[in-house]
Amino acid sequence: MTARFTSIPATPDIVIIGAGVVGLWCALKAKQRGLSAVIVEKGCIGQGASGGILGALMPHRPVSWEDIQTFQLEALLSLETEVAELEAATGLTCGYSRCGRVMPVDSEEFLAEHAQWQAGSTRYWPAASRTGQPLSWDIRRGEPAPAWPALKPGFVAYSFDTLSARVNPRGLVKALLASVQPHVVVAENCPVEKITDAGEVVLEDGTRLSPGKVIVAAGHDSFGLLQPALQCELGWGVKGQAVLLRPQGRLFDDMPVIYSRGIYLVAHDDGLVAVGSTSQRDFKNTDVDEAISQRLVQRAVELCPGLAGAEVVEQWAGVRPRAAGRDPVVGSMPGASNTIVATGGFKITLGIAHKMADAALNLATGSDSDLPRSFAVEAHIAYAV
Ligand SMILES: Cc1cc2nc3c(=O)[nH]c(=O)nc-3n(C[C@H](O)[C@H](O)[C@H](O)COP(=O)(O)OP(=O)(O)OC[C@H]3O[C@@H](n4cnc5c(N)ncnc54)[C@H](O)[C@@H]3O)c2cc1C
Repeated sequence: MTARFTSIPATPDIVIIGAGVVGLWCALKAKQRGLSAVIVEKGCIGQGASGGILGALMPHRPVSWEDIQTFQLEALLSLETEVAELEAATGLTCGYSRCGRVMPVDSEEFLAEHAQWQAGSTRYWPAASRTGQPLSWDIRRGEPAPAWPALKPGFVAYSFDTLSARVNPRGLVKALLASVQPHVVVAENCPVEKITDAGEVVLEDGTRLSPGKVIVAAGHDSFGLLQPALQCELGWGVKGQAVLLRPQGRLFDDMPVIYSRGIYLVAHDDGLVAVGSTSQRDFKNTDVDEAISQRLVQRAVELCPGLAGAEVVEQWAGVRPRAAGRDPVVGSMPGASNTIVATGGFKITLGIAHKMADAALNLATGSDSDLPRSFAVEAHIAYAV
């Protein structure tokens, strides 16, 4: 077989497999530490789940507080300044805003749960964000939804938190890419076939790369790449769909994220409103299913009649990585410490990828890491099939 990828440095400090948000944040963190890095991407940059349209950054419910919640809280707090630095360095916008979230509450029973989450927020969240914005969780009974025009009336109450945020996933991918090039070589159309026991990365055309460390950030495909070494499936892909709407008029600028019974409405700063998302563990292909898109639009209009008549600008489908133990996987491969896994953030990756990358680079450089034990590869193997 002819080697197509001879222009890729064969012995960088780090080879990162996958150019989604996790791989790109890893590349930026490697650059910041003065390491040479190469990203190998099987197709185009951001072609995976990170190339989506939703971008809700929602905290875990503040009850039964565990390490994952501490990790995510720290990530959601630090992302604001990390994105500001990224935007300043590149001149690009990531569409980030700590816009908050409104959750309509449709029953007294559900209201009691919200009251518990509100109490948990007082206990576990800091009083203010790193930029001094107050963080709170209010429950407003019998009032109109804060700030959202034309939301369906008649809910028992509205929960409103100011920790939630939003980002434009494609804007984030573009800014990350701009921040790492040309220091980091980003090789597109460059599928990795396997990682050898000795930590060599073998590309599909037979080219072999021998980096100091390998970071596997190939989204849901990571699980297949690791399967031969682990002899088990560390996780799987879950297909999801979302739609992007152009409402009539610019009523929806800088609105909080709306979340109701599995549906998010995210008003982005370009005036478009993203609606999502669905979850499908069993799927035959990754194509958009029009019937699912129509149901998403229908649910969005039921929730917010002000979206009636909005133009459907885009329908989108992607596959999220879901690790066996549910938490993300960030850790060294057992018996192959030069291979580090960073994937599996499922529905919260956009808000934690920078911190997953910090942890992966700490592992790569032998520095201390504050990772929850549940993130370790071994912890996920216990749940794997
Ligand atoms: C419908 C939907 C809505 C979502 N909404 C949100 C949301 O609102 N908020 C949130 O935080 N998260 C959300 N997510 C989840 C989030 O998008 C993903 O968890 C995240 O993008 C995963 O990033 P990643 O970098 O791990 O993977 P990916 O973005 O999938 O990147 C992996 C990359 O690796 C490449 N690759 C794969 N195999 C190989 C190989 N063998 N060789 C080389 N390259 C390879 C792929 O081509 C891909 O580009 C959503 C996901 C979906 C599907």
